[in-house]
Amino acid sequence: MNLFEAVQNAAGILKNKGIENPVWEAGLLMSYVLKKDISYVYTHHNCSLSPENYEKYKDLVCLRANGMPYQYITQNQEFMSLDFFVNSGCLIPRPETEILVEAALSVILDKNSCKIRVLDIGTGSGAIAVSIAFYAVQTVVDAVDISLEAIETAKRNAKTHKVNNRVHFLQKDFFSWEPDLPYDIVLSNPPYIPSSEISLLPVGITGYEPAAALDGGPDGLIFYREIAKKIEKLLKPGGSVFVETGAGQARFVSDIFKSCGLSASVYRDLAGTERVVRGDMK
Ligand code: GLN
Repeated sequence: MNLFEAVQNAAGILKNKGIENPVWEAGLLMSYVLKKDISYVYTHHNCSLSPENYEKYKDLVCLRANGMPYQYITQNQEFMSLDFFVNSGCLIPRPETEILVEAALSVILDKNSCKIRVLDIGTGSGAIAVSIAFYAVQTVVDAVDISLEAIETAKRNAKTHKVNNRVHFLQKDFFSWEPDLPYDIVLSNPPYIPSSEISLLPVGITGYEPAAALDGGPDGLIFYREIAKKIEKLLKPGGSVFVETGAGQARFVSDIFKSCGLSASVYRDLAGTERVVRGDMK
């Protein structure tokens, strides 16, 4: 069996399962098995596949066909042009979340300070905390998550991108934690799915991503309320908070922020959905 035939067969299997980009994913899984770039797969159609690699490939294609997101198979997701290690203990970073990071970076890079204190609440894989530290060298970031498994993953990502000296990880339940000192910038992509809607999400999410990273309580808004409740402890005067929100939540989150004295503004994602709410402390 050559690479072309194996990828074609796999793509057919994935297509039958309704997977959106079957050829690309089949190629990606092959590149993972061969430990080569995806361009190698496209340019070595006639190379034969060893029986061991064929078996390995079949197993991975089967996992994907059964619904496991390919990122958990390859244990990798690119975010902000950086490679992040991911596993089932953390959410897979989403492209929408780059809007949050970019919005915060534009404020951070405008500040004339050599030490900007940043907090990331619910850091998961560390995608937000690590990218902020990577692209804004004047930042010192605290990253909180309740899950030890997520913290371990995030630490690994901080080390990979050589920002582990400026990102500090805390395994804490945000609802019972308060910082010693307030921050210049607070960021969060919190769990925001209303509890009753979780079971309606695609199986690739519900079956594989950690429920604790998704569940935002009865109306999906509990984390935003907790941030608002603690805002005086979290944010310095003149500081800003940036949160990602689910579709339709931005106006509720803006109201929550306004009710604790922040001025609120909203950023849209590339699909035009209101995705990030910014709150500024006067
Ligand atoms: N902050 C992480 C991310 O954006 C995890 C978010 C979460 O688990 N809700 O990917």
